[in-house]
Amino acid sequence: MFSLRRTYLLVVLVCASLAAASPRPGNAVPGPESVFGFKPGADFHLADYELISKYFQALAASTPRIQLQDIGPTGYGKRMFIAVISSEENLRNLGKYKGIVQQLAAGKIEEETARKLSEEGKAVVWIDGGLHATEVAGAQHTPEIAYRILTEETPEVQRIRANVILVLCPVINPDGLDIVAHWYDKNVNTPYELAPVVQLWNKYVGHDNNRDWYMFNQIESRDVAHVLYQEWFPQIIYNQHQSGPFPSRIFVPPFDDPMNPDIPAEVIRGVNLVGDAITRRLDAENKIGAVSRMGFDAWWNGGMRTAPYYHNMVGILTETALFDYATPGYYPPKSLPKAFANGLSAKESSMFYPSPWQGGWWRLRDAVDYMVTGDMAVLDIAARRKEQWLFDFWKMCHREIASGEMGAPYEYIVPNEQHDPTAAEDMLFALQLGGVQIQAAASSFTANGTAYPAGTVILPASQPFRPYLIDLMEPQHYPDLRVYPGGPPKRPYDMTGWTLPLQMGVKVIRVNQGADVASRPHIVIEPAHRFTPPPGMKLGRVGLYESWQPNMDAGWTKWLFDRYAISYQVLHDADIRAGGLRDRFDVIVLPTQSEPGMLQGWQPGTRQSFEGEYGQPVTQRPEYVGGLGLAGVSSLQQFAETGGQLVALDEASQLLIHAFGLPVKNVLAGLSNTAFYAPGSLLRIDVDPNLPETRGMERDSVAFFVNSEAFDVWNPNPLAGPPRFTGKEQAVPENPFEELGEHQGIRVLAKYAKAQPLLSGWLLGEQHLQGKVAAVSVPFGKGRIVLIGFRCQFRGQPENTFPLLFNSLVVPAGN
Ligand SMILES: [Zn+2]
Repeated sequence: MFSLRRTYLLVVLVCASLAAASPRPGNAVPGPESVFGFKPGADFHLADYELISKYFQALAASTPRIQLQDIGPTGYGKRMFIAVISSEENLRNLGKYKGIVQQLAAGKIEEETARKLSEEGKAVVWIDGGLHATEVAGAQHTPEIAYRILTEETPEVQRIRANVILVLCPVINPDGLDIVAHWYDKNVNTPYELAPVVQLWNKYVGHDNNRDWYMFNQIESRDVAHVLYQEWFPQIIYNQHQSGPFPSRIFVPPFDDPMNPDIPAEVIRGVNLVGDAITRRLDAENKIGAVSRMGFDAWWNGGMRTAPYYHNMVGILTETALFDYATPGYYPPKSLPKAFANGLSAKESSMFYPSPWQGGWWRLRDAVDYMVTGDMAVLDIAARRKEQWLFDFWKMCHREIASGEMGAPYEYIVPNEQHDPTAAEDMLFALQLGGVQIQAAASSFTANGTAYPAGTVILPASQPFRPYLIDLMEPQHYPDLRVYPGGPPKRPYDMTGWTLPLQMGVKVIRVNQGADVASRPHIVIEPAHRFTPPPGMKLGRVGLYESWQPNMDAGWTKWLFDRYAISYQVLHDADIRAGGLRDRFDVIVLPTQSEPGMLQGWQPGTRQSFEGEYGQPVTQRPEYVGGLGLAGVSSLQQFAETGGQLVALDEASQLLIHAFGLPVKNVLAGLSNTAFYAPGSLLRIDVDPNLPETRGMERDSVAFFVNSEAFDVWNPNPLAGPPRFTGKEQAVPENPFEELGEHQGIRVLAKYAKAQPLLSGWLLGEQHLQGKVAAVSVPFGKGRIVLIGFRCQFRGQPENTFPLLFNSLVVPAGN
């Protein structure tokens, strides 16, 4: 199977590179199989980025109905591209149609002109191959939908080509596709065929590439954001995924509650309409097992399909079933669960699961087919209603401009005087990437009774993407949703609060009523980032622990260190187990990870991929099995005792507290989610800014808290000297330290506010963390251990707490 495939690939690459010239009439449009050497989605076959790119180049060389456009680099330096697909005539007039959507998006024209342009224009639909690389069908299916839209001559596809401009991003995560496809290629037909990937599947953040759509920290997000919010303004954005609620075969909108009140109603109506078109078409094609209104809600801003809502665009996500890579899976009907996780029957028909799937084979090809059906449904309804999509888009943009002129809010002022001017520039730069219009005052002015000089940055609320601006500037108030009345909290899809000025530590003034101030457009240049240690101290030699169980927090930490030009070495389990760390490092950072995950890593041996006799064996490659183990823990202990500094982020602190017997306890451990719950919120913290670890921070700061930690800290038995390795957690004495500052060498760096700790999001049981310690630095032997209980660098966002991590990398110059 292998050598055959390689031969195909070689022949095909040679042919394709010869053919990749300008389109010549009469060239037959090649099917994917002719370039791949196998049908997309065939068992045991994954096309990689080179192959998929070659196929699209071959398409572009064979028909004038497609144009390829480079949209920028990936983290590893590949080039990303989109394929713009429509009729020959539309593509000849592409500039005109782009101009029409840009005019509609600007929202300034009046209704009569908007109606005329909607009639004249073409609906723009974005479809992508999914950004989560282990959800393999996404990238494999895009060649097929391109081929169908380019070549079919049915009335439906002719209508689509005539009325729609399809902006297809065949591979939205090229680095990830190659990491996964090449890993699978190495393992297929061996005992490790289903082994989980051991690295994040892109340069930095893995699955969190779908958590970056308002910060745009990752280069790939920026490439795509430019297409969406500056260039093409698609009215419908369809983002493919593969992790729906089991045993459904595909999740399709409508989404679940809650709905974020900043989202325009027309957007949600549009989402429901498109969702209905998809499920109806699936049923018509006898593709059963579609479920809706489960798990995926419409609260959070920041996903590939959710951020468009605040831009007046219809964002669609579907989650087609995945077995594993390109290996087929068989689910014996009797082994299927009776109910979904939320209790809904998985066997019987219900309103949002009317055609239950009863088990059987599931192949990559099935997933490809479901995805192509989803695409066709989206393109068909886009074509049939193209005028309404365009007009509705204009209507929302136009209305948001008018709403802003009415005020409340009228604008946000970003004063020149900022505690951290770089954070303010970062915030503005991110807003600019998201299509927010930024102005600078042309003269001095007064607002809310305060005078501001000329040049002051203003974010006018009167702009087309007003919902987006407001959602990022204002606190979120998440509804108290329960699984049943009085029961446990209903888990939100992602974060519940994200207000940028709070988490980035940027001062922003809301102005409710308009004042006439002349202003001009303001272009933001991304600022340079650098961390400078204080005089007499230097940046230590930094080691960063990275598990073979891919850890996004480690990835974000790497990204942060690279951004701030902080050099570091990655340490895997064996590097730590080998010991001698103090000779090579001054500081070792442990990103958040569970204690068992750090200690054990991947388990040795074989498990079943699925319960029952047909389950496939899953075995990890032996070189990646095992975690830190006792040898690793003892090596870290020796490192700290001999003068090293250990920095543990959030959950990673548990390992050190338990293994080293530190005089610290996480008071939230063991509480039920009915007693305490904060699944992604911004909390007020009090900081002592006079300690080495808190240098440069504000007294009133904000913690990004994701069911994180809150500590009791106390003086260890003074007669026994500094804490020693005991292997067990200590009992909390009666009077733990809660006051900020240094107590017998123990530094209480930050604590959760005593009053009203919740600033944005959702917090149940606040009394459990009020006044408790949020971050602490504990002496240990000749070294020190810094425990940061919350997510101080979460997804590269909460800039107001980056200094806690950076300062913890500093050691005295003589060290
Ligand atoms: Zn996904």
